[in-house]
Amino acid sequence: MSARKTDIAIVGGGLAGSLAAAMLGRAGLDCVLIDPHEAYPDDFRCEKLDGSQLEIMQKTGLAEAIARAATPDRTCWVARLGRVVEKRPGDQLGIFYGPLVNTIRGEIPRRVPFIRAKAQAVAARAERQLVTLAGGGQINARLVVLANGLSVSLRDSLALTREIVSPCHSVTVGFTIKPRGQSAFAFSALTYYAERPADRAALVTFFPIGAGMRANLFVYRQSDDPLLRRMRKEPQSALFELMPNLRPILGDFAVEDKVQIRPIDLYVTRGHRQAGVVLVGDAFATSCPAAGTGARKVLTDVERLCNLHIPRWIATPGMDEAKIAAFYDDPVKQACDTFSANKALRLKAMSLDDTFSGALRRRSKFVLQAARGALRRRPQVAETLPAVQLPVEASA
Ligand SMILES: Cc1cc2nc3c(=O)[nH]c(=O)nc-3n(C[C@H](O)[C@H](O)[C@H](O)COP(=O)(O)OP(=O)(O)OC[C@H]3O[C@@H](n4cnc5c(N)ncnc54)[C@H](O)[C@@H]3O)c2cc1C
Repeated sequence: MSARKTDIAIVGGGLAGSLAAAMLGRAGLDCVLIDPHEAYPDDFRCEKLDGSQLEIMQKTGLAEAIARAATPDRTCWVARLGRVVEKRPGDQLGIFYGPLVNTIRGEIPRRVPFIRAKAQAVAARAERQLVTLAGGGQINARLVVLANGLSVSLRDSLALTREIVSPCHSVTVGFTIKPRGQSAFAFSALTYYAERPADRAALVTFFPIGAGMRANLFVYRQSDDPLLRRMRKEPQSALFELMPNLRPILGDFAVEDKVQIRPIDLYVTRGHRQAGVVLVGDAFATSCPAAGTGARKVLTDVERLCNLHIPRWIATPGMDEAKIAAFYDDPVKQACDTFSANKALRLKAMSLDDTFSGALRRRSKFVLQAARGALRRRPQVAETLPAVQLPVEASA
């Protein structure tokens, strides 16, 4: 059986792959999208996009479609040590991961074929690449965009390895809440920072998705930690035990759905510099959900790749390693990767630092943010304050 020919085979249709298919298809390039799922299934991943991510999304041409499907947070309260220190203008959009990816898939032009299959192997060379599909069939492409996320299934055929930078770096807990004993929550969105380093937690965020209020808690614990077992069974009491001063701000609540818990390793892929294949999103490197930079990394990768690099690569013959290297060496991509890695490590270090200087740093954040909050309450000053967050740990 002869292989199906195309210019670009995109392997994996999550956030990165679906976005690449939409952008390349809209640019009139010849590409196919390969993924085992016709519609992206429910999955606990990124559930909101912040202002900086939406800015990059604007460059992909998909921002409006996503804004229509998502829920804006309007205003976001920031609280520390039981005090609301700032009420900043909202810049986040809440959307579950499945609907986010499926909204993007809905923007892929019809002429881009969707191949419902799992890629089993990729043979990459300087001219043409061969993707072998499980269940039979092959795709012959000039370029493979590898966007298969956390999956390890294609690593061997491409001799890729993973360097674990920080095993079980953080654990994310997600659930949907409704008010109990009160008609509504007092806030439209809230970010609350951990109270003590000994709690081994970073923060919890509450934000609207549709009519519901979603909670994302980020902790630095092992996956078998007793707190996580309690979060599964008694999320309200476990949360208030972890963050006792949150209760007066949040009020009582009931959990509406199953508590989801996901640990994440920070890793980077090695052996990626090769002819004919380029890695994007989690396939290249993961990020820490507490730092909230995963979607930013995916968007930056795909925006640079599809707006700048692929159109250049396709315009000239061959697909050698030197061509592909231009993407990995792209200063915008490199700055984003470095920012993401540093933010993940700094947020954890700062949250767990139980020395005097750690306490001082957290206290100065508190004072700075409270001062900023006070300025916001003065209307003539508030208008001149940008809607961006404080650096390092304030943006998750
Ligand atoms: C719990 C959690 C919370 C998070 N929260 C945030 C947050 O608040 N903010 C933020 O910015 N980021 C967050 N992130 C990170 C963000 O969700 C990820 O960085 C992003 O989803 C990665 O997208 P991707 O397209 O690279 O991978 P994925 O979305 O995983 O897509 C991979 C795709 O590849 C397909 N695939 C796999 N193997 C094959 C194969 N062999 N052949 C064909 N297809 C294949 C899969 O079916 C899937 O569709 C979070 C992550 C987690 C786990």
